[in-house]
Amino acid sequence: MIRVNVIRKTFGASVVLDRVVFDINPGETVAILGPSGIGKSTLLRIVAGIDTAYEGEVERPAALAIVFQEPTLLPWRSALRNLTLVHPGLSDDDARAMLGKVGLGDKAGLFPRQLSLGQQRRLALARAFAGAPELLIMDEPFTSLDPATAEAMLSLTERLIAEVRPATLFVTHARSEADRLADRILELRGAPATLAPHLIRNGASS
Ligand code: ADP
Ligand code: MG
Repeated sequence: MIRVNVIRKTFGASVVLDRVVFDINPGETVAILGPSGIGKSTLLRIVAGIDTAYEGEVERPAALAIVFQEPTLLPWRSALRNLTLVHPGLSDDDARAMLGKVGLGDKAGLFPRQLSLGQQRRLALARAFAGAPELLIMDEPFTSLDPATAEAMLSLTERLIAEVRPATLFVTHARSEADRLADRILELRGAPATLAPHLIRNGASS
């Protein structure tokens, strides 16, 4: 169980998050929906443990993986080494198998700059899933891709989640992405942002 209890998050004098409280069950996929600038990335950084300057607490498993909006790959390492350097226990064969799952089976020796943005995103996804995380955190992983590439990323992510079964928290400003992937949708609203009083599950208000 992941427990998020953010009482307040401020940047200087401005309060960005106010009482953002929710749980994520093992294997559950939760989407955080909200407009640009509302505090989605701030919330993810807190849940991930990257930002610790807030009032409240978060219970999270140690085995967690983060997929940022930018792929954040190691530029001087091959696609294969981008997996094995982050996961020292991962054999080259297992890393190759994971590259194959994301459609990069023939790109193991290429460097990130030799890959398209869509391929770099898939490599970042492979790196995240290769560690078999208990908690997967994704920050708008499908934006700035053309529609066909975004669709391919979405179905790939769906398949990997079904296979690895992490608890997943992802943020998006696109309702369609939330509907597609999430078991439960939470909405950030207002300034300071708080969770909307109703939860949307499978498209229906409850
Ligand atoms: P979103 O991801 O929903 O687009 P962010 O979480 O990135 O929004 O930002 C929420 C608000 O917090 C914005 O007003 C942004 O300017 C502000 N903010 C984010 N990071 C910082 C920071 N490091 N210092 C000051 N303000 C920040
Ligand atoms: Mg953001």
